[in-house]
Amino acid sequence: MVFLSTSSMKKITIAIDGPAGSGKSTSARRVAQALQYTYLDTGAMYRAITLAVLESGVDIPSAEIDALLETLTVRVVQQPDGQHTFLGERDVSERIRHADVTNAVSAVSAIPSVRRRLVAIQQEMGCNGGIVMDGRDIGTVVFPDAELKIFLVASIEERARRRLMETGGSSTVAVDVMARELEERDRKDSTRAVSPLTKAHDAVEIDTSNLSIDDQVERILALAQEKVLGRQ
Ligand code: C5P
Repeated sequence: MVFLSTSSMKKITIAIDGPAGSGKSTSARRVAQALQYTYLDTGAMYRAITLAVLESGVDIPSAEIDALLETLTVRVVQQPDGQHTFLGERDVSERIRHADVTNAVSAVSAIPSVRRRLVAIQQEMGCNGGIVMDGRDIGTVVFPDAELKIFLVASIEERARRRLMETGGSSTVAVDVMARELEERDRKDSTRAVSPLTKAHDAVEIDTSNLSIDDQVERILALAQEKVLGRQ
């Protein structure tokens, strides 16, 4: 598909939300590339804070986390090989994908001060449009006025299978274990008091269970094209 985008066209904000393993990050990155927009994986920022919390040894939740937040700098930098996440000067892009961080991230993400801090950074990064941001609350809280909101879903079996392929596992038992982990994380993310994972009323839901990445990207680009042309 050829996307009609010229430098004179107004750049829109695209919010992509959905549960773990629904295809958000891969689609969002590819859509951003096609449009020459900035891509931001907000989950990486929550993971970076979680790593800092784990390394500091403070309880989750606890008042100490507020003090710790004051000392932290989380930066997301686009490099030729993709997005890199920094905690201070340290590149934690790979470390934040480890199981200890994945297991603790929903509890840390539920802390209001953590969300306030990261949402402010995300809003600042996207204030000029021309951005594709993926997460859990982008269309509802970070950019409630985003021109295009996508909510990706997929069956739990498919999401578990994809996650395992990313991490190199394959057996049926492993799929079951992964499915339970994803469901537990989704449950925590959807039931927290602040900014729970939920579909914005004006988001377009796309079920990616039977879609290839190319199909997902094409659909989102077609919707983006309508929005861009509609605004000119
Ligand atoms: O996208 P990813 O699976 O890496 O996100 C990790 C976790 O970060 C999620 O399970 C959720 O707890 C949290 N998160 C969030 N809000 C976002 C993005 C991620 O609460 N916008």
